[in-house]
Parts: sequence; structure tokens; C-alpha cells
Amino acid sequence: MCTDINANACARDENPAGAAETCAFRLDLTIMSIDSPRFILFAALALALPASALAETPPVPPQTTSPQPAQQPTAPHAAAICPLPSRAGEKLVRKNVPEAHVAMPDYADLATVPVAAELSGSIRRVELPPGKKLVALTFDLCETPNEVAGYDGEIVETLRAEHVPATFFSGGHWAVTHAARFGEMAADGSFEIGNHTWTHANLRLADPDKLKREILAPIAAFAEVAGRSTCHRPDAAADAPMPRPRLFRFPFGACNPATMKAVNDAGMLAIQWDVATDDASPFRSADMIVKDTLPHVRPGSIILAHANGRGYHTGSALPRLIRELKRRGYEFVTVSELLAAGRPVIAASCYDERPGDTDKYDTWGLHKAAALPKPQPPAAIPIKLPAAVDTRPPAAPRPIEPGLNGRIN
Ligand SMILES: [Zn+2]
Repeated sequence: MCTDINANACARDENPAGAAETCAFRLDLTIMSIDSPRFILFAALALALPASALAETPPVPPQTTSPQPAQQPTAPHAAAICPLPSRAGEKLVRKNVPEAHVAMPDYADLATVPVAAELSGSIRRVELPPGKKLVALTFDLCETPNEVAGYDGEIVETLRAEHVPATFFSGGHWAVTHAARFGEMAADGSFEIGNHTWTHANLRLADPDKLKREILAPIAAFAEVAGRSTCHRPDAAADAPMPRPRLFRFPFGACNPATMKAVNDAGMLAIQWDVATDDASPFRSADMIVKDTLPHVRPGSIILAHANGRGYHTGSALPRLIRELKRRGYEFVTVSELLAAGRPVIAASCYDERPGDTDKYDTWGLHKAAALPKPQPPAAIPIKLPAAVDTRPPAAPRPIEPGLNGRIN
């Protein structure tokens, strides 16, 4: 269910009730100075990111001895070699359908390299050099175990038409149930793909096995699905494997020290947001999304939205949002490009608008159950029974008491 008015609120009906763990960090917005060891380490990591994620490289023409036709100019960020048109009905979320039952890929042998300790924590936005007006659009592709969530082609086509790069945080389950779409998006040079767990679990409630599965299975799934795809990035060899995701987004925006460590140890940066479109509410019109989002955007912002069918009016709001931000002088980049352009603003805990506001998902199921009316015993229904037959022997005649004159009243 995604009807609650809260960012990143996909599939809350999947969130099991459980014992609450307190996100016991203090708010600690840490802005790195450019000459700090932390920044130097970050810069080193940024350099280590796949080149395809940081800069666009024109495709290398094949070696041939025949005369070459004149090269057509390539529009920036329009490099997908096999985009598929969106189809009617793809945005719909389908619950309890047979296609939702997919096999989980084997992730046992995945080797991981932890991120630098200085980059541990929840990255909310990026501090940019003065005058730089970059902004990153992000779209979550959440999917729970018993559903096939949607694919919002209107969003993808708007991004392509406007030549706007973006970052998608895909569930591993979503990637498998949308294999053709995932392969196509992974091959688009304008898009970056991050990890959004296997089945959109609240990791704060996960036991160690589930925690590992939710974090690592999508990495294996991405490689497997992209490897089978006939789409290839224009800046990579046809048989080049999809780069491992370097970015991760916590479902429900909920983490704790153990889950943050698990994500960072798996080699991924935890990317949150500083601007939520709150598009996961069907009650928020495109007008409301545009009007309420724009005032919060600033240089270095990371904007949260959904492209899995639970961004109810995102598709119609997006062109207006993009054009207005362009008019205000903003340039759109992927999250990795944004990180490479400045210094990440890192919070110690995960939250939506203020620390602690995502802790509610630990007990969301309990609150939901408590809100339901308590079961009542069924109301008594009068039933007309046939007259009982009195089988007792007739009582002995009562003696007439003196003075009553034979009357019993
Ligand atoms: Zn999500």
C-alpha cells in the first residue's frame, strides 16, 4: 500500500510489525571541508567510480576499411540504443499474481569492498562550489515479494525527451520481474542504477540472514538481468558487465547502525534525500507536487520520487518540474555525478524530514492493527424456538393454604 502521505512509503503493507529498535544516533550533519582527509578520501572514491557513471564518453566507431559515413551528432543524454515505447497498463501494480514468484539469484560468492569509513552515513545532499547549480532526480523502483509493481514509462520518456539524467533505485525483485525494462534502463547512458534491496524490507527488523539477502541479492540480480539483456551501454563494449551498484537507498528511509554498516561494508553509499516530492500519495495532484517541491530545491539537492506506479501523479508533474528548474538555471546530473562535483552532506541517522520520523515503520503493522476496530462478538439474534415440551411429571396439587380461599395470585 502506498496511500500514506509520506515519502518513500511504498508497500507499507509489507512492513511486518516487530520490536522497535531505536535509531539512537544524534543528528550530526557533517559537512566535509575541501582540504579535510575525509574529502580527500571521498575524492579518491569518486575517481574510483565507474567512468561511465561520472562522465559520458562518446562511442568508439568500429574499425573498418570501408569508407565511413558522416557521423551524426549525438544528442547529450539520448544514448539508449534500444529504448522500448511504454505500453498501456505497465504502470499498474499487480498483487498476488503468479509472475511475482521469482527465483532469487545466488549471491553467496559476491566479494565486497567496504566504502571509506568517512563516507559512512546517510548522504542527504551535496555541498557544491559557489555558482554551481546541479540537482539529482532520483526515482525508487520498490517491489514487495507478492507483487509485480509498475513501470512508469511516462517518467522515463520525459527524462529522455528533456535530455535529463536520473538515478533509479531498483529493487532486485523489480529488476527480475521487469527484466526487459531493467536491461533497457541499465543500458541508457543517462541513467544510473542503485540498489533498493531485494523485496523492500525494513532492514531494521531483519535478522542477519535476511539483512545479507536484502542487500546482496539485488547486486547478483542486476548482473544477471543486465547480462541477459540485448541492450548495451553506448560507452561500453557489448559484452561488458553492468557496473556494480555503488549507491543504495534504504526502504522507508529507515536504518540503524547495524544496517548502515552492512550497506557500507557491501561497498555502497547510502543515498537519502533532502527534497521529497511526497508523490507516493494518490491524494497529491501534479499541481501540489510541483508547488510543494520547488521551494525546497537548492544547489546539490537530491530529490526523491517514485517510478514504480506508486508515484501517482509524478508523470504529469515531472515535465513542469524539470522545465521550471531549468528556467531557474539548474542542470540535472546523476547522484554519482553530483557526488563527484562537491562534498556530500552526511547525517548519522536516516530520516525523511527530521531525525526519528522513519522509526514509525518498525511498528507500523502494530499501529495499523490497533487502529482497526476490535472484533466484537456477534449480536444475539432472536430465534423463535418451538415450544418446549415439558416432560416433567405433573406437580402434585398444592395444598390450599388457610385463609387464601383457594386463589394463588
Ligand atoms: Zn521504496
